[in-house]
Amino acid sequence: MDTLTLEIKDDGEGFANPNGKPKIAYFSMEIGIDEHIPTYSGGLGVLAGDTLKSCADLNVPIVGVTLLSEKGYFYQELDLDGNQIQLPFNFNINDFLTLLPSKTSVTIEGRTVHIRIWHYLVRGVNDYIIPVFFLDTNVEGNCEQDREITKYLYGGDTKYRLSQEIVLGIGGVRALEALGYTTIEKYHMNEGHAALGTLELFRRYHDVEKVREKCVFTTHTPVAAGHDQFDMGAAKTMLGDMIPEQIVHDVTFENKLNMTRLALFFSHYVNGVAKKHGEVSRLMFPGYSIDSITNGVHSLTWVSEPFKRLFDTNMPGWRSDPYSLRSAFGIDKNDIWTAHMEAKKNLIDFVNSRYNVGMNYDYFTIGFARRQTAYKRPDLLISDPQRLINIAEKTGPIQIIYAGKAHPNDGSGKESIKNIFRVMKSMNGNMNGKVKIAFIHNYDMAIGKMMTSGVDLWLNTPRRPQEASGTSGMKAAHNGVPQFSTLDGWWIEGRIENITGWAIGTRKSNERESDDDSDRNEMYEKLEKLIIPKFYNDRDNWIRTMRSCIAINASFFNTYRMIQQYVLNAYFI
Ligand SMILES: *Cc1c(COP(=O)(O)O)cnc(C)c1O
Repeated sequence: MDTLTLEIKDDGEGFANPNGKPKIAYFSMEIGIDEHIPTYSGGLGVLAGDTLKSCADLNVPIVGVTLLSEKGYFYQELDLDGNQIQLPFNFNINDFLTLLPSKTSVTIEGRTVHIRIWHYLVRGVNDYIIPVFFLDTNVEGNCEQDREITKYLYGGDTKYRLSQEIVLGIGGVRALEALGYTTIEKYHMNEGHAALGTLELFRRYHDVEKVREKCVFTTHTPVAAGHDQFDMGAAKTMLGDMIPEQIVHDVTFENKLNMTRLALFFSHYVNGVAKKHGEVSRLMFPGYSIDSITNGVHSLTWVSEPFKRLFDTNMPGWRSDPYSLRSAFGIDKNDIWTAHMEAKKNLIDFVNSRYNVGMNYDYFTIGFARRQTAYKRPDLLISDPQRLINIAEKTGPIQIIYAGKAHPNDGSGKESIKNIFRVMKSMNGNMNGKVKIAFIHNYDMAIGKMMTSGVDLWLNTPRRPQEASGTSGMKAAHNGVPQFSTLDGWWIEGRIENITGWAIGTRKSNERESDDDSDRNEMYEKLEKLIIPKFYNDRDNWIRTMRSCIAINASFFNTYRMIQQYVLNAYFI
């Protein structure tokens, strides 16, 4: 950090950017740029972080804009029954971020809200540096209520959320101006949270077409209820005269100011985050041209230490060119297994030391870590405990490792954690049990990395078509871990049956919405007949599958390929 800070000079071209003239501003409510900075909640933020890291590696002239969220999303504790306790995350800002002298402000309900700006510098593999700006309203001169706006990610009521979006969108565009950036050509909204920034641009240019030329929008939500919207009356009170009368009709849906509509209206380029999600979005928003760019992950971030060494030896150059992971087919299978066992021991040791479950290095281990919410069906795997036991008796022992937070207002998400805890207690209480379960508290990027690299099989069970993309399975693929998942999001593109993993549901039934009973049945059937026997009895072919995950999926589902598509199709710089 210190050396980076020293290199920064105010050259009049943009205070904080040592590379001179950024052309793209990337706005995201959450950015998971560093596992120690808790200003992200899940996939959206991790994707934003991985995107900016790849831009730094590839010398793409971009800057990131986000909220400080100084108390994070929340720190998750779980009691013995699996009740989730949400604690404010204590994070020492000064250890990671630098406060900049520039300031800006927005108006909310007629009050001036002052914003200060912190930055974090992302250094790429070739030392190209990209700044990420964190907006902070905890400033003297703001009233108590306004000082709280950038405290909790996704906390509070709709008014709190709208205040945050005013700070992110309008405040973000103004912050870049205050920082002296005059060269921004594209404003990329990562999800609709930053859409109010278009109103600030419209105020500047008074011309819808001019704003459109500058805006790019990525939608992430295939479910109508997931799109932010605010009562128009309340929005007008909060925003004052920021909403021009002539566009009200275009950005209103069911009498509400709809952030997705606002972003769609003002963007010349819109995309979904997987091919299927592009299709779903086109059906949801007829009349708009919506492309798709499938998500990826930042390879260097998500490859575990043992696999980094393996790749360095076998595919030198992969760190700055993840396409070279294609040649993983040439790696010796024994070496893949040795690297995998090292990553697996790391995870099993962690789980045993924290949760005293006595898991075994050699037993088949399934991982499931993601937001605990109904559509992802976190408890589908344990929904028939007796059947799971029967399968383990036939095929060999099964270990299951869970992690994931439920949103504080998501009652059914919290219920599934408790449900997992109930089954976990009865399974682990049986001394001769063939099924063992652990639930790791406070899922974050570090745990995500340990899990996606340390299990034998990565499980994902979203109800179609509700998973826009999903990225944790791509992290698993980077560590040679095959995925078993419903055919939704990226898995429709990434799955080659028995070669990169397995599907729950056939391609035909993929056209329908998911049916829990048939998915459950198929999941258990495939585990029993195909997957677990292959692991225990056909190790050579199992490792072959691991190798194809790296060669076929990691070489493609990475943010290098993704950002190159954005540069060509969306930014067009
Ligand atoms: C990768 C990651 C996610 C996103 O995973 P999905 O498969 O998209 O659900 C969420 N949270 C953390 C901490 C992650 O590392």
